[in-house]
Amino acid sequence: MFLIGYFFTALLVILVGFLVGGWFGACCALFAACFSFAIYQSAQNEKWLMWLQKPTEELPELSNDLDEIAVRTQRLLKQKNSDLQTSDANLAAFLSAIQASPDGVVMLNYFNSIQWCNHMAERHFGLDATRDQNQIINNLIRDPLFSEYLSSNDYTQGIIITGHQHQIERPIKIAINLYPYANNAKLLLSRDITAIEQADAMRRDFVANVSHEIRTPLTVLSGFIEAFQHSKLSVTEQSKYLDLMAQQSMRMQSLTSDLLLLSRLEASPLVSTSDSFLLSDLIDVCVRDAKALIVTLKSQNHIKIAHEKDLTNIQIIGSMSEIQSALSNLISNAIRYTPAKGCITINSVLEDSHLKITVSDEGEGIEPQHIARLTERFYRVDTSRSRETGGTGLGLAIVKHVMLRHGGELRIESTLGSGSQFSLYIPTTRIIMPLVHE
Ligand code: ADP
Repeated sequence: MFLIGYFFTALLVILVGFLVGGWFGACCALFAACFSFAIYQSAQNEKWLMWLQKPTEELPELSNDLDEIAVRTQRLLKQKNSDLQTSDANLAAFLSAIQASPDGVVMLNYFNSIQWCNHMAERHFGLDATRDQNQIINNLIRDPLFSEYLSSNDYTQGIIITGHQHQIERPIKIAINLYPYANNAKLLLSRDITAIEQADAMRRDFVANVSHEIRTPLTVLSGFIEAFQHSKLSVTEQSKYLDLMAQQSMRMQSLTSDLLLLSRLEASPLVSTSDSFLLSDLIDVCVRDAKALIVTLKSQNHIKIAHEKDLTNIQIIGSMSEIQSALSNLISNAIRYTPAKGCITINSVLEDSHLKITVSDEGEGIEPQHIARLTERFYRVDTSRSRETGGTGLGLAIVKHVMLRHGGELRIESTLGSGSQFSLYIPTTRIIMPLVHE
């Protein structure tokens, strides 16, 4: 279209030049026209190039042919810009999804240098996504096992290394898996498996502890059974052995019933809010059991009850049998760990947000480093004393779970040499105050 226009314009210039000055005039006119056109065109090109360097909404004024090209270029640029924005938004959404992942993600290129990593990976390995971009990962995760894994080229199995914030007293374990993808790039996935490892270790310990606890009385029992089978025992010996056998089977019985109770408590959800019982009934039953234990252990301890008068008729919403078992455990411990003729006090107070039932004793007390661990299953400060007095090592674990099921907690305070206080905190949402008659 433009070419036809240029052709006819050239013909017109030649014709006018020819009419004015013959063939010489025609040549001069054509030369002058071409020269002016070249100057005009280069000015137009200059404007066009300037615009291309910094494209704006407004196009420069251009000749018809360039204007058409500019409009089309501008349209194309707009389309590309919008495509770019869409893909940027998609990338940002994709990256924020990876940021939300509970696993660490690191993208490595062919040279094992970091291209991108998420917050979790920063936390696992102490990386900084901006600072460490393009750094070789080997220089930042300085664990020989990791270097070996990275260079092995066999990524079928993952590895476990210690995490960035690992300390001997607070171990952190990170599982790492590498997945090669396009052009020898690698995707590194990391997961904090500290809790899983701890749970695994606790399960192993638990099985070992239970086996140990059951094996001891079983060994004693089978020894006595053998003695009955193969020796001629006097009547006195028989009765002595039978007493010891009864003791051991009682021990196994209490162990299995504590284990069953604990697993029932751990497995079931929060206690219902439809049952309630009187605090005074709870204390009465526990004191009655405690007195029976004092007689059995011949410890001659005495029990003092020191709760405020108005609390006698308050009701607790929850399971009486569970809270009774928790409180009885605390009282029985107080009796067992207090020297003969000592005093055990049961005190109830209503504080701002909870009812606090404290069992205080005058025993030897507990060293501070043991206190946080007392509610672990089978944790004992003094193993022989616990066994001698019929302890299973599960009592405080049961108390803790009963409290958790009632939305409360167990708190322990102790002073070495002068005694301990074990307190049950029951939230006031589980307390019904007695009606006051005027
Ligand atoms: P156990 O059956 O061994 O008493 P518990 O879980 O009831 O198990 O208690 C765990 C450990 O806590 C006990 O072995 C004992 O070392 C310590 N303990 C519990 N209560 C007391 C207390 N009142 N005074 C001193 N030590 C206590």
